[in-house]
Amino acid sequence: MNAHVRFTATEQRALLDAELAGQFPDARGRFGPYGGRYVPETLIPALERLEAGMREHLHREDFQREYTDQLRHWVGRPTALSHAPRLSAAWGAEVWFKREDLAHTGAHKINNAVGQALLAKRLGAKRIVAETGAGQHGVASAAACARLGLPCVVYMGAIDMERQAPNVGRMRLLGAEVVPVTGGDQTLRAAIDEALRDWVSDPSSTFYLLGSAVGPHPYPYLVRELQAVIGREARAQCIERHGALPDAIFACVGGGSNSIGMFHAFVPDEQVEIIGVEAGGRGVKLGENAASLSYGWPGVLQGCYSLLLQDENGQIHETDSISAGLDYPGVGPEHALLLAAGRVKYESATDSEALAALQECSRLEGILPALETAHALHGAKRWAALNPGKRLVVCMSGRGDKDMPTLQRTILAESRS
Ligand SMILES: *Cc1c(COP(=O)(O)O)cnc(C)c1O
Repeated sequence: MNAHVRFTATEQRALLDAELAGQFPDARGRFGPYGGRYVPETLIPALERLEAGMREHLHREDFQREYTDQLRHWVGRPTALSHAPRLSAAWGAEVWFKREDLAHTGAHKINNAVGQALLAKRLGAKRIVAETGAGQHGVASAAACARLGLPCVVYMGAIDMERQAPNVGRMRLLGAEVVPVTGGDQTLRAAIDEALRDWVSDPSSTFYLLGSAVGPHPYPYLVRELQAVIGREARAQCIERHGALPDAIFACVGGGSNSIGMFHAFVPDEQVEIIGVEAGGRGVKLGENAASLSYGWPGVLQGCYSLLLQDENGQIHETDSISAGLDYPGVGPEHALLLAAGRVKYESATDSEALAALQECSRLEGILPALETAHALHGAKRWAALNPGKRLVVCMSGRGDKDMPTLQRTILAESRS
């Protein structure tokens, strides 16, 4: 476990009991020691308005009916639970996939995007702003906004726009305006700051559609509620197919949305092992990876107190990962809580381990997974070696077509030479 995170067994049990009793987030938006709302004064009214609107609508039957209808008829839910027979034979355990790669736009991000866009309409918003790093959340937001007839502005770091040119084109085709962010680090962090600035300038007619389970309260909770459909479906599908829960479940952890969505329904099932897999990049030193839960320590980033990759002066450090979607120095506060409570194990997989897992899954199962997902696959493989014959489910967070430029430069370049 992360050496910066120290809780006694009694404290761990108390945190887990509070989580299981649904006491988090508390009135201050905290998940135990983590979370909260560390933002400039100017943002507080916008967040309070969002929280009040969310509490009014999110769990109402008519909202849930509309949301479920979009998920079923437009997103393509429920997504399949697929057996992976050849990987099972190769790894010596029974391997299953929860197929978020089959969801519209090719990943889990659409569950959150369409849910928040529906909420925005209920709250009377006239336009949506969103941030994007690799472009996947921008594409999901642009698609959801087109579907619901809302104008959409996506802030994207200028460097990312260059690296992810095909996704910029996709967003524009879907009718979104993509605004380059040239300040700060010119990547995801700067794009989030810019989207927040836009939102605060007109919070009554603008809605900020945040892409992962991070940021100030109530976003980590809102995103979890919208992604929890993944784990609810997977749990019911396991019971229907096997009459039993799996022995372990896996998901990759960037900001933490597909993983919290997969994990949430299973947290009370204490016999099910839950394992999150972060980006181990090139190595364990600061700057060589993006594994905040494995190596980070507590601090505030973008409105939220959580585990962060930072130097001894508290300066947020640059991260490194072959997968753009995991390349973020922070992580959602509920994961920091689940680590503190000892309920979820967090490990990492390196760039080369992820590439090998991607190749193995593609060849044996006919599924080209996203590079992000490949980290979870490596974690599952490692676990399978220690737990022969047991049953595991991996959240297949997305498909790998978007990663072709990276795969051309790595796996495919090697096999040519
Ligand atoms: C964005 C993305 C991730 C990482 O984001 P989370 O919020 O941690 O889920 C993982 N997999 C895919 C396919 C993605 O597009």
